[in-house]
Amino acid sequence: MAITNEKAFIAGNWKMHKNIDEAVELVSSLKQAEEELSEAVVVVIPPFTALRQIKKILEGSSLKLGAQNLFWEEKGAFTGEISPPMLKDAGCEYAVIGHSERRQYFGDTDKTVNKKIKAALAQALVPIVCIGESLEERESEQTINKVETQLRAGLEGLGEEDMSQVIIAYEPIWAIGTGLTATPAQAEEVHSFIRDKLEENYGNEIGSCVIILYGGSVKPDNTYSLLKEKNINGALVGGASLEADSFLQIAKQGIKAYKEKT
Ligand code: PEP
Repeated sequence: MAITNEKAFIAGNWKMHKNIDEAVELVSSLKQAEEELSEAVVVVIPPFTALRQIKKILEGSSLKLGAQNLFWEEKGAFTGEISPPMLKDAGCEYAVIGHSERRQYFGDTDKTVNKKIKAALAQALVPIVCIGESLEERESEQTINKVETQLRAGLEGLGEEDMSQVIIAYEPIWAIGTGLTATPAQAEEVHSFIRDKLEENYGNEIGSCVIILYGGSVKPDNTYSLLKEKNINGALVGGASLEADSFLQIAKQGIKAYKEKT
């Protein structure tokens, strides 16, 4: 079944934070509030070590589970890596692929991102594919070029059916963890470019339904204005997803913005 952007999609990327006890505490608080979140799709993306424990807590809950990365092989001598079947086994439905921190520190490239997307899809894991420009690229007006290249190379070889199972996250690198946020207009300019490209390459029906998230210092007080934009379907939240209160507020602001624009 195709994934659609009918509801606000709010995902919390915990990065390398939270031991198992802390993760359990956070997700338990979110679960207590889940009724208020029913009009959004809410995903928690903890470190690998907490996945199994969190899955147990989320049994029967509408909250979803995702992973922060994966390797493209199913199994083998790849010390330190985690495969898509392992993530499925741990209860994940989503996997972040090509986060800028992975591109910057761990050698992820558009080519490896492409392999990871295909490996995720082969196991029915929904890839959340991160793209975005550096400050230098923005200042030299290379934003659209950069995003276009990442889209083209990252999604190479994917058909319409595949694309109906992929989520894109536009995350300007200069806005990640810096407290700087793209203005709604800056973000929407890129989101609408991405939407146009997807419609051009995969047809209107598929392209118009793809979830395109914004990420980069999303906070409770900027979520509403960002998600009010036509092509911003949700948020990939880092720092502000580490506290239940701020993450819940973000989800509620997302729901409010979505209701008003649809
Ligand atoms: C992220 O981790 O993808 C992110 C956008 O982080 P932050 O919200 O902290 O900028």
